[in-house]
Amino acid sequence: MSNFKNVIEKIRELFHEPEEFIPLHVPHFSGNEKKYVSECIDSTFVSSVGQFVNDFEKSIAEFTGAKRCVVCVNGTNAIHLALIASGVKENEEVITQPLTFIATVNAISYANAIPVFVDVDKDTMGMSPKSLKIFLEENTEIKDGVCINKLSGRKISACLPMHTFGHAARIEELKEICDENHLTLIEDAAEAMGSRYKGKHLGSFGLLGTFSFNGNKTITTGGGGAIITDDETLADKLKHLSTQAKIPHKWQYEHDEVGYNYRMPNINAALGLAQMEKLEYILKQKRQLALEYKNFFTSLKIEVFEERENENCNYWLNAVILKNKEQQQLFLTELNEAGVMCRPIWELMTNMVMFKNCQKTNLDNATWLSHRVVNIPSSVVK
Ligand SMILES: *Cc1c(COP(=O)(O)O)cnc(C)c1O
Repeated sequence: MSNFKNVIEKIRELFHEPEEFIPLHVPHFSGNEKKYVSECIDSTFVSSVGQFVNDFEKSIAEFTGAKRCVVCVNGTNAIHLALIASGVKENEEVITQPLTFIATVNAISYANAIPVFVDVDKDTMGMSPKSLKIFLEENTEIKDGVCINKLSGRKISACLPMHTFGHAARIEELKEICDENHLTLIEDAAEAMGSRYKGKHLGSFGLLGTFSFNGNKTITTGGGGAIITDDETLADKLKHLSTQAKIPHKWQYEHDEVGYNYRMPNINAALGLAQMEKLEYILKQKRQLALEYKNFFTSLKIEVFEERENENCNYWLNAVILKNKEQQQLFLTELNEAGVMCRPIWELMTNMVMFKNCQKTNLDNATWLSHRVVNIPSSVVK
């Protein structure tokens, strides 16, 4: 007997796909993608120098309201760059959440820093200001304007919350706590392109915010990422670090620190610029689908993740909250076997062998969510 037959039928109906496999999320190309990529090829400027890179950066800065944007090869190295450019050093600590995609925490490791995990809120799936505050009160002291972890003796330099599936974490409260405790706030907004809180784009609350343009994200450049900031000096530093720290010169190879080859190629930016032109349309379609899901699942008494007050969510991936782990597994099995792709939310980072010995708070909410949340097909409906 099937428990979720009606769910399978509804999703097939919404996607006008009575038989074929329905993926979780596919890119939507209906604008100038081929035209711009083709122009890029004709120009021969397919690598990291070219007009599309500049135009794409300008377009993201305008859309998000940030002063500057620096694009790079993917969302993971966007976080890595943001961390090191903001001054995170070897053996320092970065506070993050255990319920996230592995990239957030891998990037902390690339910076040779150590992650510390605090809980998330059940209603945002993002870092909990309450958990962060309790952690800081119980475990840290401020010495000469530096936040010191009393247990490890190390400096805690940054705080890296993530906006899960495009839903805003309690970012204003997090910012206030970070300011009080001398922590740099960096937002992993990889999933939040097009999401706003009180009209302000996610990723623009902290000193730096990062995005991903992987093939499964709201808009894509194949592979790609971006960092936004209002700090001009920091933006110049990000660009410098992402281009092998080469001092601009017509022919000379001079470099003033160890840099990275992280700058986005022009051909990817060509795709990205075309995607930016379609972003409003994509968001409109995704919000419509979220509304249909909400009405349907509410009628079944299955909870869906909705935006909170003052939030404007991109609904990158829609999510349902099942009753318990058994129901979650049953839902996953039945839908995936019926060719309707579903994915559980992530395993907690604190369960991974690389991070299981890291310092952490009580993680009741993150654990609760990881046993119940499932993502359902969320592409733009054709
Ligand atoms: C997608 C994603 C990233 C970065 O991904 P890339 O594949 O490197 O572009 C980082 N953090 C989160 C939470 C993500 O979902």
